[in-house]
Amino acid sequence: MSVILQRERLGASSMAEQVLRNIGPIVLLGPPGAGKGTQSKRITEHYRIPQVSTGDLLREHVKQATPLGVQIRDLMARGELVSDHLVCDIVAWRLREPDVERGFILDGFPRTATQAVWLDSFLKFEFFETGKWAAWLPIVVCIKVDYNKLLLRITGRRTCPVDGTIYNVYSNPPLVDEICDKDGAKLVTRDDDREEVIRERLDAYERQTKPVAEHYQQLSRVVDVNGDLPLDEVTASIVRVIDHNAESAVGSN
Ligand code: AMP
Repeated sequence: MSVILQRERLGASSMAEQVLRNIGPIVLLGPPGAGKGTQSKRITEHYRIPQVSTGDLLREHVKQATPLGVQIRDLMARGELVSDHLVCDIVAWRLREPDVERGFILDGFPRTATQAVWLDSFLKFEFFETGKWAAWLPIVVCIKVDYNKLLLRITGRRTCPVDGTIYNVYSNPPLVDEICDKDGAKLVTRDDDREEVIRERLDAYERQTKPVAEHYQQLSRVVDVNGDLPLDEVTASIVRVIDHNAESAVGSN
């Protein structure tokens, strides 16, 4: 059922109850260009739970030039992974903030099997054994997109350098080729959206994510969602998965 239909059928007050119950941890997996960022934002708004993005947390350390930020700056600039123990420490610190009590959506974490194993035991000790949640394993939603469609989506992406509007030369072109409709600026292609770079990014994603997906597949926690569908339908599928699994994962506590 679509989010809108669901809202109509439930009515405003039961919708509020529905979204304010415990959701638990959600892990969103998906290659670059799969719409992970957009879907994460929609899910956080729907359930009123925070998004925890390790990329954002690490970039903030770099920006503030904290001791950790100084240590990881060059490595991040090269697109390499930060070491597991540093990332896990940051996640532990973030997941002890009070706003995650009903649940949260993880973006960019776990990225290695070690991080996934660490996360399971952290959630077990911090949320399950303390009686906060009835279960602790995350719901893992994997957004699947056809490889060739993904290439078109990413290589077709153009951004306005002035107001940040994003176009796509194939699916959402500007009125005049390569020119922003709103301010007339010449559109640009992000350096990491060029085809040779994107192929490398997609391969790296496959290599990195496979062990994480396998870890959760063994625990029967992975649900695939068709990311080729229109945005609203992808959101509705993710909401369906979360509604179904959150109930069986965290019960009514
Ligand atoms: P992202 O915004 O998720 O693409 O992350 C940007 C950069 O932050 C990555 O290229 C890594 O250098 C680092 N990073 C983010 N999340 C992780 C993680 N879970 N493990 C290791 N490094 C990470």
